[in-house]
Amino acid sequence: MRYAILSDIHGNLEALDAVLADAASRADAVLVLGDVVGYGADPQACLERVAERAHAVVAGNHEHGVAGLLDLDWFNDRARLAVEWTRRKLDPDHLAWLRARPLILELDDATLVHASPDQPAEWEYLVSAEDGYDVFGAFATRVCFVGHSHRPGAWSVGSSGRAHEPGAREIELEAGRRYVINVGSVGQPRDRDPRASYALWDLDGRRVTIERVPYDLLTAQRKILSAGLPRFLADRLPIGA
Ligand code: ZN
Repeated sequence: MRYAILSDIHGNLEALDAVLADAASRADAVLVLGDVVGYGADPQACLERVAERAHAVVAGNHEHGVAGLLDLDWFNDRARLAVEWTRRKLDPDHLAWLRARPLILELDDATLVHASPDQPAEWEYLVSAEDGYDVFGAFATRVCFVGHSHRPGAWSVGSSGRAHEPGAREIELEAGRRYVINVGSVGQPRDRDPRASYALWDLDGRRVTIERVPYDLLTAQRKILSAGLPRFLADRLPIGA
């Protein structure tokens, strides 16, 4: 069994389609860790694609913001503008679907959550080594997949000690170790690599790889500008920041 694990698509249909095409022959099923919408110009199409293709989807803070489950004061000014714009683009069926996504779920000895398995509705960012080490008590499975920071990376703990690998590309799942793995962002990477990021989890091969996929960035930028969304959201895509 091989899973493609996607997070932080953020309404970027060009990036999502490139990732789904890349994963089509390499994965048996697609899992999504939230923030399907927000920032990008295609929230409806991304949401419909994900609803149709994903085996499981957990909610991100943008889902909760758009669906009225998270106070908009939580967001910075640009993110709030994008949340309000996105809400106007979605119909009641879309909003109901967003509202119905769980915050956290377990599947095949993995926990899926957008931000942190420790109080998922607090939307904490796991960035430093300690941030990751601190949450191993908050989930029971061998692996926990997260997104939210838009930066791929891995933390692991076991009898041979602890390890933090920011920017990890290949993670061998060793016996006796547990892992927190950030899969990066499909639609708005922030690790200075503008290519879409997602993870492939090979259960039999006991390995997770972070895949990077180029996509039609100019079209995604053009759509953001013609939608009247803040220019900053288009400008950041080629920088990957
Ligand atoms: Zn996000």
